[in-house]
Amino acid sequence: MRELLTEPYATVRLLEEYGIHARKKYGQNFLIDGSVIRRAIEAACITKEDCVLEIGPGIGTMTQHLCMAAGKVIAVEIDEGLRPVLADTLQDFDNVQVLFQDILRTDLRGLSEQYHGGRRLKCVANLPYYITTPILIRLLQEKGLFESITVMVQKEVADRICATEKDKEYGALSLAVQYYSQPQIVAAVPPNCFIPRPGVDSAVLCMKAYEVPPAETNEELLFAVIRASFNQRRKTLANALSHGLQYEGRTFSREEVTAALEAVGKPADVRGEKLSLSDFAAFTNALSAETGK
Ligand code: SAM
Repeated sequence: MRELLTEPYATVRLLEEYGIHARKKYGQNFLIDGSVIRRAIEAACITKEDCVLEIGPGIGTMTQHLCMAAGKVIAVEIDEGLRPVLADTLQDFDNVQVLFQDILRTDLRGLSEQYHGGRRLKCVANLPYYITTPILIRLLQEKGLFESITVMVQKEVADRICATEKDKEYGALSLAVQYYSQPQIVAAVPPNCFIPRPGVDSAVLCMKAYEVPPAETNEELLFAVIRASFNQRRKTLANALSHGLQYEGRTFSREEVTAALEAVGKPADVRGEKLSLSDFAAFTNALSAETGK
């Protein structure tokens, strides 16, 4: 059996052997800490029943552990240059499919159809940080496709995602993720767990997807309201929305916004950053009722 890569010396040797230089443009920071990987796999409750999507297997460090824990692993990697090293490090596993393509252009439902009979997937990954938000939004918007998403992200991003209206980090990203899932930080990860060391702290974030969103409302209008509120977060909601909200080609007057706020018991000068997800949903419903949208 090939050695596992969760020792720094094994990773350094492998990188040298294959002449690999971590590519900044692809956000390559390779994990060298087995305990972090085990913690992520444990938080995601991976069993042999599961088919796991790994985004960016890199040189295969986490992939090896996923192959041992899961029934099937689909690993999507953008960097073709890693093909030889992955063929080597994953040679002992027959339950892994490595696809060399951009995750943002991958048909995710197609993967589930092809490799897991259309059933739900779990995602476990050490994400490329430069595209964390587009990846997460893409995965979460594939409603019902992912049972859970457990990923390494920048600590600062993990804090923003888990923040509530009581925290200063609270914003549109917190609300977007919390509409689809329940996020929780399951491990703090310092820079020395990677080669090369990133310039930021990291965290493993586990998001358990809701089967039904926690708030019932017109989803498109809700997200238009949230975006407009946080685009101008210093402004009152009435100001931000009467100038910045557009939905289906329509704008909303200050009177309409104020009436909807009043209907949900919020003062006319409230700011978006003080509203919880359920407040935003109630406000969106009131605005719909007010304007017929
Ligand atoms: N999983 C490995 C580990 O933990 O050591 C590598 C993680 S590294 C932070 C991110 C990985 O994502 C790199 O292998 C990088 O090449 C890959 N990647 C970057 N952009 C990608 C994209 N658009 N689609 C798929 N993979 C991508």
